[in-house]
Amino acid sequence: MEPGLQPRRQGVNVVRHAFAILLQGNLLEKLPLSNLKEIIINMTNNRKSPIEITNEDFKKVGYQLIDAISHFIDTIHERPVTTGESPKQIQSVLGNASLPQHGTSVSELFSRTSDLLFNHSLLNGHPKFLGYITSSPTPIGALADLLAAAVNPNVGANILSPIATAIEKQTVRWLAEFIGVSPTCGGIFVSGGNMANFTAFLAARTAKAPKNLKEDGLRNDHGEMVFYCSKATHTWIEKAAVLFGHGTKAIRWIPTDADNKMNIDILSQTINDDVKIGKMPFLVIGNAGDISTGVVDNLSAIAAICKAKDLWFHIDGAYGIPAAVIPEYKDLFDGIREADSIALDPHKWLYAPLEAGCILVKNPQHLIDTYSSHPVYYNFGNQDDELTVNYLEYGFQNSRGFRALKVWMALQQVGRDGYIEMIGEDISLSQLLFEEAKKHPELEEITQNLSITTLRYIPLGFTQIENNNKTYLNTLNQKLLNELQQGGEVFLSNAFVADKYCLRCCIVNFRTSSKDILEIVDIIVRAGRKVHKMLQSE
Ligand SMILES: *Cc1c(COP(=O)(O)O)cnc(C)c1O
Repeated sequence: MEPGLQPRRQGVNVVRHAFAILLQGNLLEKLPLSNLKEIIINMTNNRKSPIEITNEDFKKVGYQLIDAISHFIDTIHERPVTTGESPKQIQSVLGNASLPQHGTSVSELFSRTSDLLFNHSLLNGHPKFLGYITSSPTPIGALADLLAAAVNPNVGANILSPIATAIEKQTVRWLAEFIGVSPTCGGIFVSGGNMANFTAFLAARTAKAPKNLKEDGLRNDHGEMVFYCSKATHTWIEKAAVLFGHGTKAIRWIPTDADNKMNIDILSQTINDDVKIGKMPFLVIGNAGDISTGVVDNLSAIAAICKAKDLWFHIDGAYGIPAAVIPEYKDLFDGIREADSIALDPHKWLYAPLEAGCILVKNPQHLIDTYSSHPVYYNFGNQDDELTVNYLEYGFQNSRGFRALKVWMALQQVGRDGYIEMIGEDISLSQLLFEEAKKHPELEEITQNLSITTLRYIPLGFTQIENNNKTYLNTLNQKLLNELQQGGEVFLSNAFVADKYCLRCCIVNFRTSSKDILEIVDIIVRAGRKVHKMLQSE
C-alpha cells in the first residue's frame, strides 16, 4: 500500500456512497431518524479524513523529504543558478492537467514536487546569486517554518498563541538590541519591507494627523498632508501614497548629493516652503541602505530636523540596517535611536527564508492607536495582564502565521557574533569585487556601499572611441545583464547610477566566497566580450 492511502477508507467510502444514493433519491426524510443517526455515526466514528497522513507514512515521507532537501543544499553550488526556462517551457514541464478528482499518494506527490522545485527554480541559495536583495535562506529557517506550520499558532491573539506571541515579542526586542535601538520599542512581524514601511506610514499619519482622521478620513482641513524622502527611496512610497489616499503629488522627492545621500538643506527648505503655503508636513523617510547602491542617509541630521519641526522620523532599513551590528559601522547609522519607526527585513540581511519583515516603533502605542478595534465576536481582551499583546492590534493582519520563529531560532543558532561575522564577510566580499573591477581593464567600478557593488563592462580601447559612448555602454550592459541572467552561472541585477546602466551585485549571501567573486569577474568579462562582439556584428 502506498503511503497516504488507508485501508479504512474503503469502508467509509461504502457508507458515504450509500448516503449519497439516499440523498439523491430524496429518501433521507423517509428514513427513520434512528437509521440516519446510525449512518452518520458510522461515517464519522473514528473519523479518518482523506487529508490525514498516518504516523508511519508521515515519518517515512518526512525523512525522505529531509534527505532530498539535504542533498539539494549540499549540491546547490553545482547547479545552475537558474535554468532560464521561459514560462512556456515551464508550462510544458508542469503540464496543464485539470483539478484532480481523486487523491494521490503522498510519497509520489513529494518526489514529483521536490523534483519540480529543485530543477526549475531560481536558486537564491546558490553562492553566485547576488541579484536584487533576496538572501540565501538559513537552513534552520526552513526547519523552523516546518515546525511553525505543524503547530500552527495563530499569532493574531495571545490566547490563540501563548508561546508564539511571547517568542515574537522577544524576537522584536532582540532585533531592536541587534541594531542598537531601545529594547523598549515595540513592533510586529510582517511579510516584508513594503508591509513594514506601510505599517509605519499609517502609524505616523495617525500620530500626526488631526484627531478626527479615523472618523472623517483625509479631509485636508488642516492643510494637505505631505511627506518627504530622497529620490533614492524604494517604490513602496509611491504605493503608499496611492493606496492610502494621498496621491503621489503628496510625495516630496528630495534630491540627493553627489554621495547619493538626501540633501539636508533642501529637505529643510522644502518643509519650510510647504508650511508657508499651508501644507501639513507629517513624515520624513530616511534610507539606511538605499535600494540601488546601499547608501545610508545622514540620519542624525534628518532626526534633528524632525525633532525641530515635530515630524515623524521613519527609517527604511529594509536592506541595510542589520549592518549597524558591526562595531565599525556604528557611526554610519548614527541617529537610528531617534527614529520613531524603523523597517527592516529579516528575509534580506538576516538570511531568513521568505517571508519575514519587521517594523520597530519607538512608542508601540501608535500602532495600537492605528490598528486596534474591538469587535463583539472576539474574546481576546479578557486577560488584564499588562504583558498581554494581541498582535492583530499592531498591524494589518488578523490571523497571522508564526514568521518570527525562523528569525528567533537563527539569532540563537549563531548569536550576535555569528551575524557580525557573516554580515562583515558579505561587506568584505563586496569590497573585494569593487577592487577587482577597479584593477580590471575591461571593468569600471562605480559604487561600493555596505554589501552592494555596482560596476559595468567597457570593451578594451572603448574610451578612445568618441561618438555615442554613453548610449552604447548602456545598451551593452543591459544586454550583458540579460545574458548573465539567462546563462545560469551567476545572477546579478541592475542599477542606474548617474545615467550609467550598471550591473549591481548585492551580497546578502552567507555561501558566497572570495573564489566565487573572482570567478564572477571572469564570467562578467567573458559574457561582456561576447555581447560586445554580437553588437558589433549587428
Ligand atoms: C527590499 C526593500 C524594500 C521592499 O521590501 P520587500 O521585502 O521586497 O517588500 C523596501 N525598501 C528597501 C530599502 C528595500 O531594500
